[in-house]
Amino acid sequence: MILNPELKEIPIYQPGKPIEDVQEELGLTNVMKLASNENPFGASKRIRERIMKELEMITIYPDGAGRNLKERIADLYHIAPEQIILGNGSDEIIQYLSRAYLNSNTEVIMATPTFPMYKTNALMEGAKVIEIPLVEGKHDLEKMAEVISEKTALIWICNPNNPTGTIISEQELISFLDFVPKDKLVILDEAYAEYVTDQTYPDSLQLLSKYPNLMILRTFSKIYGLASLRIGYGISNLKVIQDLLRIKEPFNANRFAQVSAEEAILDQEFIQYCKEQNEKNKQYFLDELQQLGFSYFPSETNFVLVNVNTDDQLVFQKLLEEGIIIRAGSKLGFPGWIRVTIGTKEQMEKVVDTLKQFA
Ligand SMILES: *Cc1c(COP(=O)(O)O)cnc(C)c1O
Repeated sequence: MILNPELKEIPIYQPGKPIEDVQEELGLTNVMKLASNENPFGASKRIRERIMKELEMITIYPDGAGRNLKERIADLYHIAPEQIILGNGSDEIIQYLSRAYLNSNTEVIMATPTFPMYKTNALMEGAKVIEIPLVEGKHDLEKMAEVISEKTALIWICNPNNPTGTIISEQELISFLDFVPKDKLVILDEAYAEYVTDQTYPDSLQLLSKYPNLMILRTFSKIYGLASLRIGYGISNLKVIQDLLRIKEPFNANRFAQVSAEEAILDQEFIQYCKEQNEKNKQYFLDELQQLGFSYFPSETNFVLVNVNTDDQLVFQKLLEEGIIIRAGSKLGFPGWIRVTIGTKEQMEKVVDTLKQFA
């Protein structure tokens, strides 16, 4: 077997360390995972019963078009179901977009550091990747605009950005969109949109009609608490959705994911609760960090990138020994920093306690 030479450059994705591994390796029973921005409050209570009922249908392929779920999403956002494509996680839609629009004659523009899958998928298609460094944790849209060329096919904006948690404002986004030629697709990855409280955050759905070259990605993995089921979606104009449907796997969104997401959408009270708790626990964490003298990026998400000013692998290891899994910044392009998911108040207290030794 000879591996496609283009794939040699592609790193194997390094996920957050699984709870089971840490329990086994360190002989700990009480392990918390604050590494992958999952919801510490779980998912809506409505889901369990719905999944149990759906078990009767386990043998039958799911609805490949995901009609019911698309209608729920469309109702929530006042858009047409035809503007939506479902994915086996929004990760899969990142893959579809890259497959549909990239080849070795095209270029992709993105920030760095940002969510790694944009680059990985671009490399898989043989496209040239142009990475523009963040400025104070934020996308540098001016520089990103400067490098647009005839070959540019996709422009990725992770908003809020992972791993920094920062946002670009609606004004900044509109200025950028006004500049970008309409044959270049701008993708807003809004995996954390439901957590944002900053009033200047773009109302991106409102921009879709004015900018046909805009695509929005959302997911049920983060505030909706369904990461294990793998379900996300993209919203755009009909042409883009039609392009992507050509490469969509026939049954990519599984039956249990679809019905769970349908139920989850109906429980907006739970989403509101999680958002409020996240704000409170994040504020507690930031106040403590400030007192300890650690700096951090202002985060509109359920995670914070913290400057620990020392070997982040060491901090990672110390936290791990206390049963706390976080992400070492050196794996995310931020050596000397750590990324911590906002958990429950109790969990954040434990993180703060352990971080004190590095202050
Ligand atoms: C978690 C995350 C995703 C992927 O979400 P899935 O729907 O679980 O595939 C996409 N983008 C960003 C920025 C994320 O943090």
